[in-house]
Amino acid sequence: MMDLKEFRANAHRLADWMADYLETLEQRRVSPETRPGDVRGALPATPPAEAEPFDRVMADFERVVLPGMTHWDHPNFYAYFPGDHSPASILAEMLTAAMGAQCMSWNTSPAATETEQAMMEWLRQMVGLPDTFTGVLQDTASSATLVAMLEARERATNFRFAKEGAAAPGADKLVVYGSREAHSSIDKAVRLAGLGEGRLRKLPTDERFSLRVDELAEAMRSDRNEGMIPCAVVATVGTTSSTGVDDVAAIAKLCREHGAWLHVDAAYAGSTAILPELRPHFRGWEEADSIVFNPHKWLFAQFDCSAYFVKDPGHLIATCGANPEYLKWSADDQVANFRDWGIPLGRRFRALKLWFVIRDFGVEGLRKVLREHIRLAGVVRELVEEHPDFEVLAPSPFGLVCFRYRPARMAADDPKVDELNRELLARVNASGKALLTHTTLKGKYAIRWSIGSLQVQERHVRATWELVQRSV
Ligand SMILES: *Cc1c(COP(=O)(O)O)cnc(C)c1O
Repeated sequence: MMDLKEFRANAHRLADWMADYLETLEQRRVSPETRPGDVRGALPATPPAEAEPFDRVMADFERVVLPGMTHWDHPNFYAYFPGDHSPASILAEMLTAAMGAQCMSWNTSPAATETEQAMMEWLRQMVGLPDTFTGVLQDTASSATLVAMLEARERATNFRFAKEGAAAPGADKLVVYGSREAHSSIDKAVRLAGLGEGRLRKLPTDERFSLRVDELAEAMRSDRNEGMIPCAVVATVGTTSSTGVDDVAAIAKLCREHGAWLHVDAAYAGSTAILPELRPHFRGWEEADSIVFNPHKWLFAQFDCSAYFVKDPGHLIATCGANPEYLKWSADDQVANFRDWGIPLGRRFRALKLWFVIRDFGVEGLRKVLREHIRLAGVVRELVEEHPDFEVLAPSPFGLVCFRYRPARMAADDPKVDELNRELLARVNASGKALLTHTTLKGKYAIRWSIGSLQVQERHVRATWELVQRSV
């Protein structure tokens, strides 16, 4: 094992390594050329019996691991959604690691719990939610949504009906609703919450990829008539495929009518609620029972860091809490024990990076970067729209543009168009100069161009557009 003297020297070296890495990201391929099994094959099949010097470990890291990594902060990373970090966030994670922080309860690290409370309060103010919301950090939106579904199930079965003196209905009567564009984490959460695979109704969307509220009203009414219980609706602000925006205010009204839980999934777009000019997309989210968005997607606090806001923390604790003797503490009645606010017991100190990031940028600084990303998405959109052989396939309210290549001579429904785009995307990505992903929108293969790297500039976007045109 390295002693602390060696640790100090190695840590200094790694600080230089990290700064060099970030400074030269642009010179690397965005995604690796690794084939399945390459990395595994380069790693010894058995562990070393004797200690190895750190130099050798580091050399192998550079030789074996690094070439097999996708560089999510590369300026030409346009895939999925951004998974941002920033220098301040990296430094906070270094400190977190150095302290070996484990923050399951207030007393296992009081500063972690209280920093988290303060940061959730800052975030709440930043995104303009009323002070009726209380927040907690989860690892991912998937976990937060699972927790939301568990809370909804508990409210629909044990709590609400028990209070009214009626027999608690079984979970087998519960139905959850979302749009066909809702994220797969909703399907997963409904399944894991034990509601049954068929109990998620994925309803049609309109031409802007928003949940059709008339379809939702009809589905809730007809389920009710058949003795089912509308348990929850998941409204999405910024769907994963195309960043479609559901009408949260209209959905909230239906939820009130049916006593259904309203969960807002704004995993990607939620960060943009710090921009007053984008708040209209979130109209009505203050009526939700729970909301999730990911600062690890578009607020420069690196993975993992997911903000979960609830109206009723007491209900959250009733759903997720557990208080065994060995965790009891004399001051429990005066403090928050975040182990009871989610699924895992052990918790990372995620609030530290938020604190560092928000202070390092300032709220205005964060707004400036998001506005620039949204402006660049507008540049992409214009370039696509101006070209006779390309077309945009969805509105782009945030940082994502969905488009495809369709030569003017080809009909909109020509099935060969999909194939052309599949090949185009494969060529762009194989070049290593940019990374984009795809989806299907109303049956059409669409290329997703998602802007979000802290390093991206207009020249990167224009060079990638040249690459796209050359790759047809
Ligand atoms: C990314 C995304 C998720 C999942 O986020 P994780 O934090 O990776 O679980 C859920 N919903 C939407 C709309 C997303 O874009």
